[in-house]
Amino acid sequence: MKICRTVEETRAAVAALKTGGKRLGFVPTMGALHDGHMSLVALAREVTDFVAVSIFVNPTQFGEDTDLQNYPRNEARDLAMLQEAGVDLVFLPEVETIYPPGHETIVETTRLANILHGAVRPGHFRGVTSVVTRLFNIVQPDVAVFGEKDYQQLQVIKRMVADLHMPVTILGGPTQREADGLAMSSRNARLNDADRAAAVVLHKALNAAADLAQTGISVAAIRALIEAIIASEPRASLKGLDTVTPDTLEPVEGPLTQPLAVMLSVQFSDILLIDQKVIQP
Ligand code: AMP
Repeated sequence: MKICRTVEETRAAVAALKTGGKRLGFVPTMGALHDGHMSLVALAREVTDFVAVSIFVNPTQFGEDTDLQNYPRNEARDLAMLQEAGVDLVFLPEVETIYPPGHETIVETTRLANILHGAVRPGHFRGVTSVVTRLFNIVQPDVAVFGEKDYQQLQVIKRMVADLHMPVTILGGPTQREADGLAMSSRNARLNDADRAAAVVLHKALNAAADLAQTGISVAAIRALIEAIIASEPRASLKGLDTVTPDTLEPVEGPLTQPLAVMLSVQFSDILLIDQKVIQP
């Protein structure tokens, strides 16, 4: 496994891997790796010849500095996991490598970045598209894989790639879950025991919504069921419930006639968890 820290090293390593028309898959991460990340690596490996992973805690997508400072980092453990998974290249840049002195260029999806989670976290998706563009330009992957767990992020990236004619195919990977259904996340480790047990309520609510869904049922009824299930868990506080079209993320009302993306954010103590499901009528 080749470990690269500079743009030049990465470009040279990528050129060597891509000789003879070999295809490169890419999984961008912020480290603190878990089985969710590793499932994206496995998906990339299935569809390409070589796999690159980046580990970069991107400052421009964080709001408060404390969030950025508290982000878990464990390079040695991450590298061991990637080695074990047979990853070919790891890109581990410093902040100054990604954002050189004097940098001023941003990339933004103007509508998608500023609705739903983006309305609550101003600048977050602009940070994501600005870093992913830079990573794509350095790593030059043929395929890049993102988790469906960060559903709005996946749609933002797909829009950006289409709009800017980026020569990369974007794939979404299904959300990996703990045994009780909680979506894997590096934030889960920060939950206390009682909140950890209560956090299963997100998955429960989304599954109940999928079970209730049938053609003609109102979106309002689906929302009411989810709200009631979250309210039944005293440790949970509902922060966001969006019922939207799966690709453009526009609000859906009235009777259910087409697939509906349900995006849920729920807070436990000071930790915000997200989960999502596309439910079928
Ligand atoms: P992060 O390191 O949190 O930026 O995540 C890196 C990638 O892993 C993103 O594309 C996430 O959507 C994805 N990811 C995070 N959690 C999961 C999960 N539980 N299952 C699948 N993919 C995930």
